[in-house]
Amino acid sequence: MKRYYFHSIISIIALAMVFTLSGFALAESENADLNDITITETPNGIIVSVNGTLFEQIEKISWNGADVTKTVQKAIKDGDIMLFKEKDGFTITFLEAQKIGFEGDGMLEMETNYGDFISSFIPFTSLTTTSVETMSSSGVKAASSCSWLTFNKPTGNKVIQKYACYNCNPKAPNKYHTGVDYSYTTTSSGKTSSDHNAYVVAKGTVYKIEKKSSSDHGMGNNVIIEHTMSDCSKRYSTYSHLDSINSSLYLGKPVSGGDKVGVMGGSGYGSSTYYPKHLHFEMKTCGTSGTCNSYKGTCSSGCWGYTPYHPDNYGYKDPNRYGSLY
Ligand SMILES: [Zn+2]
Repeated sequence: MKRYYFHSIISIIALAMVFTLSGFALAESENADLNDITITETPNGIIVSVNGTLFEQIEKISWNGADVTKTVQKAIKDGDIMLFKEKDGFTITFLEAQKIGFEGDGMLEMETNYGDFISSFIPFTSLTTTSVETMSSSGVKAASSCSWLTFNKPTGNKVIQKYACYNCNPKAPNKYHTGVDYSYTTTSSGKTSSDHNAYVVAKGTVYKIEKKSSSDHGMGNNVIIEHTMSDCSKRYSTYSHLDSINSSLYLGKPVSGGDKVGVMGGSGYGSSTYYPKHLHFEMKTCGTSGTCNSYKGTCSSGCWGYTPYHPDNYGYKDPNRYGSLY
């Protein structure tokens, strides 16, 4: 959970409360326009997506400590909101700020579910008009130099175990799955799969190539790709239990979404066939094959593949946050 705090001086007669989703650089999606943006309200918050890719979920919006989330959601539904494209990203304008309670001086607080893609929100102060002309580019914090990434599935095959699935593996009782497992044999449409390759999910660089060994903690042949997100933070995708690794990969090699990582397999604990063949895929905040931190439970010296508490606590991310990956 990330929180963003802002002090703002807003005229009582202000009709608009404007904030910018900075860091929302779209260098790789320059063709995106307003028609590509969807904002949906859910019981858990507001979801903004571009071209179907999940951008951010805003779980709570407070104004001077008062929860205005529902009011804002209604404003979206009622159309009291405008979206337009800026040079550095997109701006969302709430019209009728008084109607939704943004009046006078105050503090705007937003809580997002994971804060992966937003570096800051910037309120515009002393607005006296709803005209978008008041939004000079000087008022917009420069977007980060990092690009928006589009994520794709690592394989078109069927998902056989989802992220954070609890008690789903008899060999890991009462534990949570740290990634997504994809079938070797079946496509997502239920047909027999003829493609057993694993593919890079988004632009990045090869961060680690790990060969199966007796000390591989069951991950087998494993490839880790580093991705630089639009807010310039790093995320890592991992591809485990591979039968073979694409021999053209080397450390530091730039890769694109769709590049071949290797062939799915069942490698682990030094064996090529420890598991039935499948792809174990993870998204996480560190470039290791195990947990990013010890949190609590039995992971003080690391956990691999399964954790005793929800994997979010150990630096893993739900891959589906990065797009419709399953
Ligand atoms: Zn798995």
